[in-house]
Amino acid sequence: MAAIYDHAMGYISKHAPTIAEQLVISNATTTKEALYGDLNLSALNWFERLWANYYIYMGNAILATGVMSFLLHEIVYFGRCIPWLIIDEIPFFHKWKLQPNKKITPAQIWKCTKVVLLTHFTCEAPLIWLFHPICCYFGMATYEVPFSPIWLMAAQIAFFFVFEDMFHYWAHRGLHWGPLYKHIHKLHHEFSAPIGLAAEYAHPLEVMILAQGTISGPFLYCLFRNDLHILTVYIWVTLRLFQAVDAHSGYDFPWSLRHFLPFWAGADHHDFHHMAFVNCYSTSFRWWDYSLGTDAKYHAYKDRVAKAKASERKAVQERELEQVEKDGQEAERRVESYGKAKKL
Ligand SMILES: [Zn+2]
Ligand SMILES: [Zn+2]
Repeated sequence: MAAIYDHAMGYISKHAPTIAEQLVISNATTTKEALYGDLNLSALNWFERLWANYYIYMGNAILATGVMSFLLHEIVYFGRCIPWLIIDEIPFFHKWKLQPNKKITPAQIWKCTKVVLLTHFTCEAPLIWLFHPICCYFGMATYEVPFSPIWLMAAQIAFFFVFEDMFHYWAHRGLHWGPLYKHIHKLHHEFSAPIGLAAEYAHPLEVMILAQGTISGPFLYCLFRNDLHILTVYIWVTLRLFQAVDAHSGYDFPWSLRHFLPFWAGADHHDFHHMAFVNCYSTSFRWWDYSLGTDAKYHAYKDRVAKAKASERKAVQERELEQVEKDGQEAERRVESYGKAKKL
């Protein structure tokens, strides 16, 4: 490990000496003094002490933030996906499956895992090392303790949710425009009945574009206020990953959040997007689609199923699902043929 570090540092020192300077790992005493001065760490709570000790142990704030950010993403993303894979193997839960006749194959799961890991390691891992310097540039607290009060964290996270939902709605609609769809967003639509693991199954450019909705909210906030801590951002990213994975799970339980918060989109909403190709472009909330009428097909489908007699509901739903998917495939063909008619 030490040899790899020395080799990497030798290379960086030769080609980018200013970056190398910032990557040097200091010993614990020097780091403690540099980061915390004479702050009495024993007066803090256990989590704040753990946080400070982690930065002291790592001996370099850039590496500490980079490692923590990358691990957080991997652990939360895959940690949230695995239970959905298990649920899909238990017949008891199948009655709440949104597209009950669809079954994902092990080959599809493996392909999905490979693409997601490839994007994480090639596109995100290198960028995550820039996270700490960017946070410092915008004035976000990273190694600092104590953390923000709970009420402030909750208010900041609420803002990030609303901002991301707005950003995603418009960026996602943009990705459905012919040329962008064909070259970028099509990969994500390979699953007309998605699974949790497919949340980040997307072209690297799409991952980069849509990630802006998640990370630029906190940086935008920092332009107006200087009280944001990176821990709040980590909690936000965790909740956002839960939302994204769950929205692709393919299951709508009676206890799913959307039954208690009527404006919460949930899997019911996003699953319809994958099936119908049009409609339901937002992530967390329903208000953008509702206000702009981009959920008309979704509501019409829901109404038709709800109005069917209880004894016929299952058959009606199957028929409706088939029709919605057929219409979706047609809509996708139209978008993909963008520009072709003009050339003829
Ligand atoms: Zn889409
Ligand atoms: Zn999706």
